Amino acid sequence: MSLVVVGSMAFDALETPFGKTDKIVGGAATYISLSASYFVKPVNVVSVVGGDFDQDHISLMHNRNISTEGVQVKENEKSFFWSGRYFNDMNSRETLVTELNVLGDFDPIIPEAYQNCEYLMLGNLAPQVQRTVLERLTNRPKLIVMDTMNFWMDIAMEELQKTIGMVDVLSINDEEARQLSGEYSLVKAARKIMAMGPKFLIIKKGEHGALLFHDDKVFFAPALPLEEVFDPTGAGDTFAGGFIGYIAATGDTSFENMKRAIIHGSAMASFCVEKFGTERLKSLGQQEIDNRVQQFVSLVAFDTVLS
Ligand code: AMP
Repeated sequence: MSLVVVGSMAFDALETPFGKTDKIVGGAATYISLSASYFVKPVNVVSVVGGDFDQDHISLMHNRNISTEGVQVKENEKSFFWSGRYFNDMNSRETLVTELNVLGDFDPIIPEAYQNCEYLMLGNLAPQVQRTVLERLTNRPKLIVMDTMNFWMDIAMEELQKTIGMVDVLSINDEEARQLSGEYSLVKAARKIMAMGPKFLIIKKGEHGALLFHDDKVFFAPALPLEEVFDPTGAGDTFAGGFIGYIAATGDTSFENMKRAIIHGSAMASFCVEKFGTERLKSLGQQEIDNRVQQFVSLVAFDTVLS
């Protein structure tokens, strides 16, 4: 059940209708690994940070059994920086700043201890770097899940399509699915994207839940209706961490188990949005997680009689 997570580790500056933050710790690999750590141990991270990165955060990762042996520290450089602003509905946002810094020429190193991993989560990162990681693993993992975003579609579409062609599961949001496929209908988009390679496609729709496509099958998971959504940053990554973490813990890559994994991912994402940044993901209890998953089960369970 070994898991390797690749992705950005970052400083984020966020603006939501509820407030603003200065630089706080974020990044795809940060959210994914924290979320997955509630399901599997250890979580092995491949990433890069600058000398300015928060040491307390690295310690927190270690305390959660997250290995940072594959995280390079470039002492004289700056960590990746991203800034975003959410609109009033909290479902859409605009990127204000993307400073790649150490990510600009990131050459991933895979420690020996990470080799032979069974599960690989390629979090948001330059698609050519995601592919390099795949090429540097001596054996192909049992399941490769990939996340990406519109930023890479805008500047590196060809590279992105090559990488997408090598993975088993792609996780993107609805806008990105439309951009990638050129189709407005998500059903048509899903068909086109699965023809690019991935056998499974997850389309995230923010507060409207997520769809899982496979062959002609589709499964829908709602998002939990929450009284307060404070900051949606990292929700997609937290979702991905819960999804791959659950699959790695159960060792079952069937469509039926992916449905359960999507619900666990959605439950983890529902915690993430309750506070700014990674705050809510730092110390969750097993009982809290189980209760959340149960809320999802209740949310979608119903009886009917067909004539
Ligand atoms: P999410 O809200 O799940 O889409 O993820 C937000 C996280 O993605 C933030 O913590 C950012 O640091 C990170 N991020 C934003 N843009 C990029 C990018 N171009 N490459 C890698 N990570 C990014």
